[in-house]
Amino acid sequence: MTDQSFHELRLEGVSRRYGAHHALADLTLSIKGTEFVALLGPSGCGKSTALNCVAGLLPLTAGSIHLDDRRIDTVLPEKRGFGMVFQNYALFPHMSVRKNIGFGLRMRKLSKADATRRIDEAVALVQLEEHQHKRPGQLSGGQQQRVAIARAVALQPPVVLMDEPLSNLDAKLRLEMRMEIRRLHQDLGLTTIYVTHDQEEALSMADRLVVLREGEMQQFGTPEEVYDQPANGYVAGFMGYRNLLHLDVERADAEHVVLAGPGLRVVGANRGEVTAGRAVAAIRPEDFVVGEVDGNALPVTVQIAEYHGRELSVEATTSTGTKIYFRTQERVAPGDELTLGVPRHRVLVFGTGGADEAAGTAEAAAS
Ligand code: ADP
Ligand code: MG
Repeated sequence: MTDQSFHELRLEGVSRRYGAHHALADLTLSIKGTEFVALLGPSGCGKSTALNCVAGLLPLTAGSIHLDDRRIDTVLPEKRGFGMVFQNYALFPHMSVRKNIGFGLRMRKLSKADATRRIDEAVALVQLEEHQHKRPGQLSGGQQQRVAIARAVALQPPVVLMDEPLSNLDAKLRLEMRMEIRRLHQDLGLTTIYVTHDQEEALSMADRLVVLREGEMQQFGTPEEVYDQPANGYVAGFMGYRNLLHLDVERADAEHVVLAGPGLRVVGANRGEVTAGRAVAAIRPEDFVVGEVDGNALPVTVQIAEYHGRELSVEATTSTGTKIYFRTQERVAPGDELTLGVPRHRVLVFGTGGADEAAGTAEAAAS
């Protein structure tokens, strides 16, 4: 459906300050035409700021944006013609579904016949044929969001920008709409930039994702790269490495680090050029097993065991009270004393730097 193909949308040193506060700092990024890129990070990290800079709704305080060899950050938003989808749908309440979808087309001065055809196509794409003459107030949240998406794609924009479009929907509908947005993206050959604070959403939908922290890009990679090889403790915390153990470096070489603290000792993979001092060991709950592995043997006492079907999700503590989260198929119960093991390559050791903060926000986002 897009009629304006391009090879690359490039952000060069894009920055946005509010007074002394850097909402977005020096973002450099190249997005390929037809790529689906997610901007991921906790609330306040600068995702909407970045999206609004690309849309042209917010002037940059430094840097530039280019569509192939055309500089566009100086171009008015309506001239960029990017499709936008917001969390709150932003539909006109007094207009029918069809009128809402056709609104931007009328601004573009399309002929009546062309506009009608495009509206028909867009209505069909999001499967709202039955509801096309209703007003937004007569639709469910999911249907309203479909209207907003149809309105954005009816313009056949070179780029579609979505800012947390699913966060007002219930969990089941969110899962359905994820697939639907991804399907539209593929079928229409769109280029999509999708903002979310939900790591699962980003991982499942995007070709590549940008992890932001306090306005700074931490990592840009495929879901596999970001999930398996987080660039630092912050990204790890955001990607489900719920255990972030701050410990002292006992020994380190290029490959491995031995870390020790009161009541525990772990050997892990050196992912942050760690040499001495303090470091963070990032471990996923699902990577622990009961019993020693690879020289890793953490004595813990089970505190809480939550039932999750085939598995238990367990909170345990070391002798000095450090919390350890793990998952197991063994029937453990509060008060049980166990030794936990984890393969060395599943313990990612990074330098210290805000890892705990990310784990906190990832948990908050998941709850
Ligand atoms: P996100 O979308 O990731 O939640 P935003 O991009 O909305 O984050 O905001 C990034 C930072 O910029 C936040 O610290 C926010 O408080 C600040 N900010 C956003 N808009 C304004 C504004 N109009 N004036 C001052 N600060 C702002
Ligand atoms: Mg936002």
